[in-house]
Amino acid sequence: MKIIEPSVELWAITPNAEQLIERAGRVAWQSEPKEGADATEKFIRMIMGKNHGSVLEHASATLSFIMDRGVSHETVRHRVGISFTQESTRYVSYDKGKHGSQITVVRPPMTNVEEVDAWDEGVKAAEESYMRMIAAGSKPQIARSVLPTCTKTQIVVSANFRAWIHFFGLRCAPDAHPQMQQVAKMALKILWKECPAVFGPALAKWCPEE
Ligand SMILES: Cc1cc2nc3c(=O)[nH]c(=O)nc-3n(C[C@H](O)[C@H](O)[C@H](O)COP(=O)(O)OP(=O)(O)OC[C@H]3O[C@@H](n4cnc5c(N)ncnc54)[C@H](O)[C@@H]3O)c2cc1C
Repeated sequence: MKIIEPSVELWAITPNAEQLIERAGRVAWQSEPKEGADATEKFIRMIMGKNHGSVLEHASATLSFIMDRGVSHETVRHRVGISFTQESTRYVSYDKGKHGSQITVVRPPMTNVEEVDAWDEGVKAAEESYMRMIAAGSKPQIARSVLPTCTKTQIVVSANFRAWIHFFGLRCAPDAHPQMQQVAKMALKILWKECPAVFGPALAKWCPEE
């Protein structure tokens, strides 16, 4: 049994995404890009201020998340402008078999020793049951039924920028699950570094400490 922290990695992003968004947006006005260091940013913020959201759909980014499988169930509820590919608990065997995988879990935020003890006990019991089922002849797709919700999953998420902003609006908010907020904010910070004009307002709202 391995216990890990969640993580997020950028796999791909539209090259020169903000310039592309500006160029596409200016088609509406049949205007030319303006000179000046912050001209693109001003144009993009103007577009966003008008909720002219379709312009943001011309750029997209792909991120790979390592997260709690329960949190991934919330992630895949998003339907519009977003695509997923996820590690399969049907095909991966966590008994250190063919792919050398082992049961890996993401520890949730806990505040006291009793909580941690109870959680440790639960995940160890689940691991033991899984191994016993595999040893008894179960396929991974059957033995997976005893895996805990906190089982680590890898999920690759591709979305256009409008869909990412919508995702951050729901998943960085204080009423989202704490572990959902954690990975959503990691993703937001990554995309903000790449495209500050597009993701700056979301960062200022959801990660004001940055
Ligand atoms: C704090 C929180 C708690 C939640 N709790 C629960 C829960 O207890 N149980 C549960 O089942 N789900 C729950 N959800 C999931 C939630 O209901 C949505 O399924 C999920 O957040 C995806 O949001 P979305 O539909 O806006 O996103 P997307 O699917 O990406 O859609 C984007 C936008 O497109 C539009 N749209 C998409 N599809 C349609 C459609 N068919 N008709 C009309 N407009 C559409 C809407 O404007 C939507 O906001 C929760 C979500 C949050 C953030």
